Amino acid sequence: MRSFSTTALLVAVSCWGGLSCAVLAQANPVANTTKPLVILVSLDGFKPAYVSEAETPHLFHLAQQGSQAKGLISAFPSLTFPNHVTLVTGQTPDHHGIVNNTMTDSATTQRFTLGSREAVENPMWWQEARPLWVTLRQQGKIASTLFWPGSETPIQGMMPNDWLRYNHDMTHQARLETLLGWLSRTEAQRPDFVTLYFSDVDSAGHSAGPDSEAVRSATRKVDQSIGHLVETLKQRDLWTRTTLVIVSDHGMASAPPQKVIQVKTALAAFPDASWEWLGATAGVRLNGEPIQDVMTALSTLSHVACWPKALLPARFRFGSHRRIPDIVCLSDVGYSVSDNPERKGPLGQHGYDPELTDMHGILIVSGPHIRQAQLGLVNNLEVYGLLVNLLNVQGEKNDGENTLSPLVLEPASAAGMP
Ligand SMILES: [Zn+2]
Repeated sequence: MRSFSTTALLVAVSCWGGLSCAVLAQANPVANTTKPLVILVSLDGFKPAYVSEAETPHLFHLAQQGSQAKGLISAFPSLTFPNHVTLVTGQTPDHHGIVNNTMTDSATTQRFTLGSREAVENPMWWQEARPLWVTLRQQGKIASTLFWPGSETPIQGMMPNDWLRYNHDMTHQARLETLLGWLSRTEAQRPDFVTLYFSDVDSAGHSAGPDSEAVRSATRKVDQSIGHLVETLKQRDLWTRTTLVIVSDHGMASAPPQKVIQVKTALAAFPDASWEWLGATAGVRLNGEPIQDVMTALSTLSHVACWPKALLPARFRFGSHRRIPDIVCLSDVGYSVSDNPERKGPLGQHGYDPELTDMHGILIVSGPHIRQAQLGLVNNLEVYGLLVNLLNVQGEKNDGENTLSPLVLEPASAAGMP
């Protein structure tokens, strides 16, 4: 395994220099005889503060042994689908085109919602960025997804080697058995890269709030499954070549029921304009109504700021895509834009400014050539570059700056190589 680490590292370092990683990997016989395994685990809505020795010992120890970020900063908006696609493309939602969990494509007027099977499996929505699994397959690797947005439809003509239709109710045990089944194939046939997804912590955070016993219970459950995964990989002798990259897509903020920005009548004077997005991040489609007049009407609302999409703060790197409505509004933390006077919940919400501590996700990386390091805040655009380097492939053009690999990968001199 030591010689494997040396090779992988040399290839990775060369990739940072802009050389073809695929060519280098082929030219090196050691690289052909070993096969790394990279497991990307998404724990939806998992906050850095949830990691503790008492509640989540497996995550805690993985973080101690490897690299852990103080927080992973989401792309804007801090929502599930946009950020999952960012993690596997390194592109901002403005560039990869999955700009919200709910969206309308102004070119086709088709509507996307994450609960619509027809929409999720319609390749039209997903074609603007090539996800990592497609890149891996094109470069001769095997990539399998146990749930990931975009994995249920061909993107640029290709799907993962293995994938499942999203099933919210699939038990942790069934997810792990399926994943471990893929990994039990012969060395030549097993995946180089797999994804795994657990939604429990997000669901509990929405329904009971981020500081609830329900969330603590969900974090313990997820942690036990991570522990089971690691233990099984150790038993199968796969652990020494596995790099676990554990992320979350966003955090969670407490959202008391009274913190509702009621907008049912806010656009009463503009019958053609409509609220296309509601929640922490909201949006208005003008449909021909005059933008200045609508902006003036929106300016009377409290606890929410609105911008014409082209004038959003530059740090959001958001506002040019045709699927973004004409006006984007961002609520103060804890508040939600709603057009339902009866609205009661949820008690936890995300979609707020990604720089807020409550919106930060987690990043824990553990593996044979991962250094022990406490990192600061990391932008989630950077995760893609690390995955590409770990997998020794040529990545696609992206919005990251490949700043994570030098922080996380052990330098050859520190790896104790012979
Ligand atoms: Zn959520």
